[in-house]
Amino acid sequence: MIIDDRAPPWARRIIRAVLEARAPRVARLPFVVRWEQTGEFFSCGQCWFRRNHLTALEVHAGTRRDDQRLTLLHELAHAILPASEGHSLTYWRTCFALYREYRVPLRYALLREGPYRQQALYGAHLAGVSIPDDIHNTIQALWKKPVLPGSQEVRYAARKPK
Ligand SMILES: [Zn+2]
Repeated sequence: MIIDDRAPPWARRIIRAVLEARAPRVARLPFVVRWEQTGEFFSCGQCWFRRNHLTALEVHAGTRRDDQRLTLLHELAHAILPASEGHSLTYWRTCFALYREYRVPLRYALLREGPYRQQALYGAHLAGVSIPDDIHNTIQALWKKPVLPGSQEVRYAARKPK
């Protein structure tokens, strides 16, 4: 792998540690890590695959460090799983295990990923992350369907403003 000079040292350490621990085969692939600093608040990223082999991992890093770390780990979870997993339940379980291991604030991660993809909270739950009630209810209200197995379907009685 070739890591962009612009990637900060903490990010290089995480990339090497995750790949060595979880996907040494991927670590030996000739993919590139591209890192670019944007002026945005949130970070975003993308993995590129060619015939199921990782060719590039990109991070467009925003200004908030926690969010950079979350984004890098989100992309690394894609990198270490088969491309076909996409944002599957297996994906989210792996992703939240990485968030916990690399100390992404979990409330933040749940609120960031929960509205984004429907199975994120279920995957977090399977990874052993406890889901606070307020976050659970907030995300479930956004999806208008249960986000955890066995959880109550939320009701939408339109409330009149007082
Ligand atoms: Zn993703």
